[in-house]
Amino acid sequence: MRLPSTPPELRVKSSIPHVEPDFKAARRTFETLDTLTHRRRQLTYQPGNGSERITAVEKWGADLYGDPCAGCGFNWSLTPEEAIRIVTGLPARYRELLDGYTGHERHPELAWNPAAYISHVVDNLRHWAEGLAGARLSEATDILGYDPDLLAQARHYNDIAPAAALWSLERAVSAWSASVTAALRHGVVLRHDARGPQRAQDVARNNAHDGYHHAWDIERILDFAGPAIFSPGAS
Ligand SMILES: [Zn+2]
Repeated sequence: MRLPSTPPELRVKSSIPHVEPDFKAARRTFETLDTLTHRRRQLTYQPGNGSERITAVEKWGADLYGDPCAGCGFNWSLTPEEAIRIVTGLPARYRELLDGYTGHERHPELAWNPAAYISHVVDNLRHWAEGLAGARLSEATDILGYDPDLLAQARHYNDIAPAAALWSLERAVSAWSASVTAALRHGVVLRHDARGPQRAQDVARNNAHDGYHHAWDIERILDFAGPAIFSPGAS
């Protein structure tokens, strides 16, 4: 049964001008985005196992910083156990560095203060501990990178109380250590969107370098600030 059509006199003329959608332009945009994404990730499909393999295109680790690191001197050939020892020692190391300082000192060449660097290390450890846990507990091996500067902006790193940042660090280190130890035991391999396959031992070394490198950044800031003038224990 056909519905009666609306009589011409009752039809409402739209005040919105009709514009033909430009599908070609839209397709060009999507093709550009797709090309950029493809170039960034360089996904290559390996015949045989039926799954794509991600080829690393983002420089990281020793390729990015040098071996040893040109800045902090970190030696990348350390064992995963040594990497864990470095990370578990970070809270004491940072606490020692900040002794006598406010933690809000600045260096003209660095955007972050010591408290901000500690907060970055906290979030980085949590990010990777969570990624390794996801792979081990639910086989969710894909992990995406994040923009540390955007996270710093969102969390107002430079305004976080140093004592609070250290409090968070102790907890993040504890969770990270448990997650990395379990991931090493299970042979977890993450698939990073820009760095390619990341074994648990690669994550351990990379995260240890992050903490070690930022201790060096904090030292640079405090060297620039001069001798310690504040000591909570001083009378
Ligand atoms: Zn370094």
